[in-house]
Amino acid sequence: MTAVKLGRLEAELSPGRVVLRGRIDDSSPLGELAAQVAPGNVVVDTDGVTFINSIGMREWMRFVRTLKARGRVTYERVAAVLITQMNMLPEFDGSAITSFHAQYECGACGAEAVLLVDAVAHAEELRGMRAPKLPCPECGQPMALADFPERYLSVFKA
Ligand SMILES: [Zn+2]
Repeated sequence: MTAVKLGRLEAELSPGRVVLRGRIDDSSPLGELAAQVAPGNVVVDTDGVTFINSIGMREWMRFVRTLKARGRVTYERVAAVLITQMNMLPEFDGSAITSFHAQYECGACGAEAVLLVDAVAHAEELRGMRAPKLPCPECGQPMALADFPERYLSVFKA
């Protein structure tokens, strides 16, 4: 495993896998990072990404395009800040996303939480633009997506 620090972003590179955490912004030359990723299929885990701005998004796109030119890219545990951005770009295909984070709220107890949605297990609901109900970490009742489904689920639309 190779650890790379790009401004406020940390990257871990291992064979077939890239883990990103921190902020993707003007200090994160992700386009250059792609050159350090071994060619072939790769899983990109963005669980720890907390922020992305428009310059960061441009870098993210450069990164993804470079990786896609050399193999299949699978997105795992996509950060909430990133999935909403990816939903605004026609370039992304939901079938490449295995899981993502989304803001949920509980109608029973009022709790709010960012939950991880398993996009493989819930593929059919997601294709129909329906967010799966997930158990509330506070009271166990089903939680619902706290935002417009389009913001998170357009990318999965059949
Ligand atoms: Zn609750």
